[in-house]
Amino acid sequence: FNKRVVLIALVCILLAGVIAVPIARFLLKPIQELVQANRRLAEGDMEVRVQTSGEGEMAVLGRSFNQMVETLQGRKYRIGTEQEELLHKEKLASMGQLAAGVAHEINNPLGSILLFAEMLYEEAGEKDPRRKDLKMITQETLRCKKIVSDLLNFARQQEILAQASDVNEILNQAVNSVSHQPNFNNVQIVKRFAADLPTLQADPAQLIQVFVNLLNNAADAMPEGGTITLATRLEDGRGVQIEITDTGRGIPEENLSKLFTPFFTTKPVGKGTGLGLSIAYGIIKMHRGQIGVKSRVGQGTTFQITLPLASAEPKSTLPESGTITRIG
Ligand code: ADP
Repeated sequence: FNKRVVLIALVCILLAGVIAVPIARFLLKPIQELVQANRRLAEGDMEVRVQTSGEGEMAVLGRSFNQMVETLQGRKYRIGTEQEELLHKEKLASMGQLAAGVAHEINNPLGSILLFAEMLYEEAGEKDPRRKDLKMITQETLRCKKIVSDLLNFARQQEILAQASDVNEILNQAVNSVSHQPNFNNVQIVKRFAADLPTLQADPAQLIQVFVNLLNNAADAMPEGGTITLATRLEDGRGVQIEITDTGRGIPEENLSKLFTPFFTTKPVGKGTGLGLSIAYGIIKMHRGQIGVKSRVGQGTTFQITLPLASAEPKSTLPESGTITRIG
């Protein structure tokens, strides 16, 4: 009898063990996944998510973890504190004033230099050795004029002429105005436009300027060619979202926070003024929108713009402060 009891007990323990192991695994697996996800989050991986299915406690826990990461992601990609944003706004305003003053003063003399250099060039004979120098003066003066006109654009970000506008149409116009340029020779443009976009109250001319700048930057980041994808979609309750994605060289982490600062450029002298993105930032803020960027070095960059459905601010004296967001 004793032997039988011991045998039965042993069989029961064995059976319990055999049944308990898979049950324990089944129960522990989601917890282990959660622990691993937490570890990755602690290491700074904001893309981490756990899989959730069903309505059980683990699924609820998983969903709240995912939600928490999304909230953190939103916070993490905000550049700087509110105080820094205020400083950014003030910096833009004072730079705008300075830029306007300098640009106005320089514009007229530049016009005269250009006029006289062109006259002298015409007068110089074909074989005149000074012709090359005069050509150089004209080219460099034109470059200065381009910088001055960028400065004036930057300073002039003060009012928008809002009208009912179709964002897809504006993007098409921006593409048409750049696609013939040499930097777009090996660039393929893919359009993923939502068909159901409502019209927005926006300033088409200024939005074209924003998109042309983003397209040019994208093409410049792909000297060997690549693809620019333009996507639009209606964001529930938020507005129209526009994404311009390239497959270019990407932007190093340490430059991301400087992108919208006036005069920040990594382009060679003569190629960039570093004003394009700060102008774009001002225009989007004037439309009460958001502009953000995400980028991976060597893989590409996405600029994301959200324009609200409610009508844009009709007139403002300064680029409004807002969050520069790096979308994650
Ligand atoms: P600019 O084009 O005159 O340099 P911007 O303000 O338009 O001025 O751009 C500032 C800098 O941001 C660029 O010099 C470049 O380093 C970086 N940049 C902007 N867009 C991209 C992009 N799509 N890919 C890589 N770098 C970019």
